[in-house]
Amino acid sequence: MRQVLSLVFLSIGFMFLQGFLGKQSAKQNIVAVSNSSEIPQEIKRLVAFYPVTFDSISQDLVFLDGTRMPIKVKKSLKSHIDIDNPSIMDMFCQAYPLGDSFQHVLQAKSDPGRYRNMDFFMKIYGNTPQAVEKNLVTLVFCPKISPQKIQVTRVMGIDSIFRNLSAALDSHPEFKPYLQNIGGTYNWRKIKGTNRISMHSFGMTIDLNIKHSHYWQWDCNCHDETKTLTYRNKIPIELVKIFERFGFIWGGKWTHYDTMHFEYRPELIFEVD
Ligand SMILES: [Zn+2]
Repeated sequence: MRQVLSLVFLSIGFMFLQGFLGKQSAKQNIVAVSNSSEIPQEIKRLVAFYPVTFDSISQDLVFLDGTRMPIKVKKSLKSHIDIDNPSIMDMFCQAYPLGDSFQHVLQAKSDPGRYRNMDFFMKIYGNTPQAVEKNLVTLVFCPKISPQKIQVTRVMGIDSIFRNLSAALDSHPEFKPYLQNIGGTYNWRKIKGTNRISMHSFGMTIDLNIKHSHYWQWDCNCHDETKTLTYRNKIPIELVKIFERFGFIWGGKWTHYDTMHFEYRPELIFEVD
């Protein structure tokens, strides 16, 4: 119980820290939450970056309001990873590669970060448009090079993270073509051709200028996950690296590429000791 309580306080403390600093100060609490050897590495990351704790006896994630979620469904119920219904542990099934080196991901036909447990994210950000919208704030993105109003969530201080990301991008006028005419941030919707809720439904995801972007569904004119695709991208990797520094994964590192798409997934970016 003491351990669970201390993890709660650490999570709350980290949320405030993120809110004030709005950048990847994660390491400061990671050391503290990593004392228990029973906690799987993946779960340490969730505990470090989200307001959740872990009950190592029941193997449940525990949210601040007491809601419990199993990190994994029983093996007998599931033999493969289902993109429509991944478990919490399944979200980590493919390692997200930082920086320049991601050709191996495309060769392996993998999509690191594209497996998302929606119960988890709905619990964090809201499970209805109304619940998400009460936490949305409007800010001006890239005020120097291409000012545009965007709506993002203030959950976990993500609005501050967006402000710091925006300031970092603003010192790169060479990226203006990609950063102007932002494709979208908040929009509660399903992913076209699926029953899956889009990560744009939560206010922690941004699409850059679609004019310079590629999306596998547009290229194959299909929603067929099994179709062989030809990867295409025009987004500069140096731009991607700035987003990654702030905890965003990029859809250009997926076989099912979506090169305009960045979403805040610090659990896949930052290491936990
Ligand atoms: Zn997107």
